[in-house]
Amino acid sequence: MAPIDPVAATQALIRCRSVTPVEGGALDRLQSWLDELGFTCHRLVFSGDGAEDVDNLYARLGNAGPNFCFAGHTDVVPAGDPQAWRVDPFAGTVIDDALYGRGAVDMKGAIAAFVAALSGFLDERGRDFGGSISLLITGDEEGVAVNGTRKVLGWLQERGETLDHCLVGEPTSDARLGDTVKIGRRGAMNGRITVYGIQGHSAYAHLADNPVHRLIAMLHAITAEPLDQGSDFFPPTSLQIVSIDVGNPATNVIPAEARAVFDCRFNDRHHSGDVERWLRERLDRAGARYDLDIRVSGESFLTPPGRLSDLCRAAIRDVLGVEAELGTTGGTSDARFIKDACPVAELGLRNATAHKVDERVGLVELRQLAQVYRAVLDGYFGS
Ligand SMILES: [Zn+2]
Repeated sequence: MAPIDPVAATQALIRCRSVTPVEGGALDRLQSWLDELGFTCHRLVFSGDGAEDVDNLYARLGNAGPNFCFAGHTDVVPAGDPQAWRVDPFAGTVIDDALYGRGAVDMKGAIAAFVAALSGFLDERGRDFGGSISLLITGDEEGVAVNGTRKVLGWLQERGETLDHCLVGEPTSDARLGDTVKIGRRGAMNGRITVYGIQGHSAYAHLADNPVHRLIAMLHAITAEPLDQGSDFFPPTSLQIVSIDVGNPATNVIPAEARAVFDCRFNDRHHSGDVERWLRERLDRAGARYDLDIRVSGESFLTPPGRLSDLCRAAIRDVLGVEAELGTTGGTSDARFIKDACPVAELGLRNATAHKVDERVGLVELRQLAQVYRAVLDGYFGS
């Protein structure tokens, strides 16, 4: 088949309106290229567990090991007000050597770059490259991620199919393409604190128990000292109070309740359970009656530097002349599920415009990423 062009492929994917959890034709498009490249494609629609149905794609070429997997997502976050954009966010328009559109960097561009790399690799190497290549692409990474990657991994496990290494195409680059490879992610949890007091007249405070004062003390107790000083590949754990809510319209009433919300991104020195214990210990000292409702969206994890991160760094050095740093910053990603299956690293475009109005990628950058992915494949299978 004709080689796949990363720019045209990204445009084709952007034109599919695949806002989570809608498939929007994006997986169909991707599958059509993979079918042509000879992959065996499985469409996996998962439902239930209180979340919407999600369409996923697992495609594999070859039966032998090792199985090199590229993982990602075709779903995108909403475009917001389309009038705020320079162009239609789903038109895939090129202006001044940049391709605009929702998903351009997060992460349709990376998927297109990988498929382009793949078509070049297979064109040159044929089918006998000594292993398998697979793609695990979900339609729900930006949403609740219940019926996406996690369930595809379960399905693979049931089939007895293993992944040996996995590269995730999330936009990890910062100031320039290839400057950061992610080898782990911080854990994420948020918590809602509700403090109960006794309502009363503020002029007769001795007859009341002011939950606002107690809440202030409690918040101070959990923010006064850091949880840690960071670790080898992680920054210090960050705990941010993001909201304090009392909602009291009166000036002469001590309210009965006060609430606050915090967001915590913790490093690999903690499991979420340790963080919760740390929090409760400090909150308990305030001596107030309170509820703490904690949601954990992911544990921290690290794939220690090794073959996959070495390959990525070498590919970046060869193609771009850049020395990549191994990092763990940013939000969470589906790598948090994949890390239980095999070593995982993340490498993709610059994230400057991800989730923003006028999300865009430079055409040169897109082609360079395809070259980097190609170099990773060559390195993995030995060129
Ligand atoms: Zn993403």
